[in-house]
Amino acid sequence: MIEPITYIRPQFDSGCLQSPLYADHYFGAADALAESRHHYLDANRLPERFTRCRQFAVAELGFGTGLNFLLTWQAWRQHAPATAHLDYLAVEKHPIAPESLQQIFALWPELAAQGQALLDLYPLALPGCHRVRFDDGRVSLTLVWGDAAEQLANLDGQMDAWYLDGFSPRSNPQMWSETVVQQVARLTCPGGTFSTFSVAGAVRRAVEKAGFSWQKQLGFGDKGQMLVGSLQQQAVTTGSAPWFNWPATKGDRRVAVVGGGIAGIATAYALTARQFEVTLLEQSTQLATAASGNPGGVISPFLAADHSLASRFSAAAFAFAKDNINLLHQTVDDDGRPGWFHPCGELRLAVNDRDRRRQRRLVASGWFPPELIEAVDAEQASKVAGIGIDHSGLFVAKAGWVEPVAWVQVLSAAASDGLTQRLSSRVKSIEWSNSCWQLLVGDGDLLCEADHLVLANASDARRLLPGADLSIRAMRGQIAQVPATAQSRSLSTVLGFGQYLLPAQGGAHLMGASYSDSDQQSLDATQQGEMLTEVEAVLPGLFDAAQSRPAGRVAWRATTLDRLPLVGPVSAAAACRSRYSELSLGRRPETYPVAEPLPNLYLNIGHGSRGLVTAMLCGEIIACGIARQVPPVDRLLVDALHPDRFLIRQLRRQL
Ligand SMILES: Cc1cc2nc3c(=O)[nH]c(=O)nc-3n(C[C@H](O)[C@H](O)[C@H](O)COP(=O)(O)OP(=O)(O)OC[C@H]3O[C@@H](n4cnc5c(N)ncnc54)[C@H](O)[C@@H]3O)c2cc1C
Repeated sequence: MIEPITYIRPQFDSGCLQSPLYADHYFGAADALAESRHHYLDANRLPERFTRCRQFAVAELGFGTGLNFLLTWQAWRQHAPATAHLDYLAVEKHPIAPESLQQIFALWPELAAQGQALLDLYPLALPGCHRVRFDDGRVSLTLVWGDAAEQLANLDGQMDAWYLDGFSPRSNPQMWSETVVQQVARLTCPGGTFSTFSVAGAVRRAVEKAGFSWQKQLGFGDKGQMLVGSLQQQAVTTGSAPWFNWPATKGDRRVAVVGGGIAGIATAYALTARQFEVTLLEQSTQLATAASGNPGGVISPFLAADHSLASRFSAAAFAFAKDNINLLHQTVDDDGRPGWFHPCGELRLAVNDRDRRRQRRLVASGWFPPELIEAVDAEQASKVAGIGIDHSGLFVAKAGWVEPVAWVQVLSAAASDGLTQRLSSRVKSIEWSNSCWQLLVGDGDLLCEADHLVLANASDARRLLPGADLSIRAMRGQIAQVPATAQSRSLSTVLGFGQYLLPAQGGAHLMGASYSDSDQQSLDATQQGEMLTEVEAVLPGLFDAAQSRPAGRVAWRATTLDRLPLVGPVSAAAACRSRYSELSLGRRPETYPVAEPLPNLYLNIGHGSRGLVTAMLCGEIIACGIARQVPPVDRLLVDALHPDRFLIRQLRRQL
């Protein structure tokens, strides 16, 4: 069970930073940096191990002030090869407020720049995993806000070293329970190490029972002894349901990505950051010409009062997409062109009683911090929007709108080192042959060969994988571009009210989007009219509906039944059905065989109406899967996106 998260604000007492919740301190008055280095980096022999690795994963119980992370990152910069990748994962139930961290970091001038970089990307107080990246993606930090006992059970990864740095067993016994330490062992690679300042008997017994060897060694200064050890044998081996298994990837580092929309380019970007050689194949003469080719789209999260899986996924994806935008976006680019992201927030209007009830529930749920959503009355709404508004609403200050084509181009330029783009290259069929994927054109000629294949070609993936039974459907959508009026020009935020309306750009507002399963290629004037009528009902007189002859654009979204994308490996449907024909018997998961999806093949499709928000995180999930790195979200979310989920649900219900 997850719970709402609130930041805490620890205080200094005689030079020690005291926890407001536990009878313990984060660090004492002595040299905190030297103590951390001694207890964690040196005790795990990290500087030495960093020098000869391609990738390395460190995990920590209790992120606290982030000092251990900052020092590990510093050591990584000093010792690791330039192309190596560091994963750092930390679980923290009571994250420290950023303004408190700012004061704490002032104590450590040698870490000032890194501390500021961390603060710039520091996650909101929302439960679950938050992935942020530093040093051009060389360093991935996964912060898991929540209780270790609950969160660890839902994480995956194989850590090379653990810092067991929670408060002492006496003040925080849950952190050192056998269950927690067993999970630590499950998440450790064979031979992986740990260190901790505590030599308490309960700690020694717990690590030993979980399969670690241990020995005492000298602690820092007058701290007496500390404990170090390594994993000898894994006591608990499995975490995920066998039918959602992501098999260990084999093969080399060539990856083919089919599809040059936001999903394809996001995947290529995440893979090239990990030194894969990516060939991206796009049938059109340019990138981003299909669903990702609209002139504008909203970047804002879907949030639900119960903070369901869909809500958690969207919040995580939104934060990840925003970090990427903030990293790559320039208000004015080097050639003097204005920026492609407009950080104007989104005002979600409550236009009827149902909306008002829903918004009240969302605010009262306690999940979402005021930095994310803020309730506003009609007067405040008018101020935020810059135009008269008769409705209350919710303001999502971190939202905005993006010009997707420009974003895709910037992403492809940022990925350019390892990326080969092949435009006008329609993949007609794919074949697994001699342990690699062959991508073929119409006449059967070979277009490209790769060790791994990612299909990011929206609904067309169904055609390339006829045996996979993909639950995906193309839904037509239309946007309208309405000439701005004297009044509408003052609109200064995205407005959401079922439809969305963007602030004017180049003399017109973009509004969207219609939703139908027709296959009409040309603009449908009736739908344009309906969108205008809806705006008129909410914002009377803003546009002259009779005069407006909106331009527009038509595109197809690839949608799924549960509105979550299909991300990850996929099975041949017949093989999956026969493997799990007895799933409806409801035996314990570990009694079923492990899935064997199509080799080295992944999907990043089905982004529906929110792909601009979700595609980046999904590209990261796939890249981590192929690279065998720590996933950016917990297993519940990875499973919720699994392409075989609809098939598995059918088998469970014996349909
Ligand atoms: C009208 C409308 C409004 C929207 N508004 C928003 C919004 O405000 N906010 C938001 O977040 N999302 C919005 N979306 C959704 C968002 O645009 C999509 O979810 C997202 O663009 C999907 O990206 P994609 O890369 O998966 O698909 P696409 O952009 O469709 O890219 C797929 C690519 O694959 C290529 N391809 C297909 N088959 C092959 C093949 N065999 N070989 C080679 N290439 C191939 C295609 O040419 C295409 O370029 C909107 C969508 C529509 C239609």
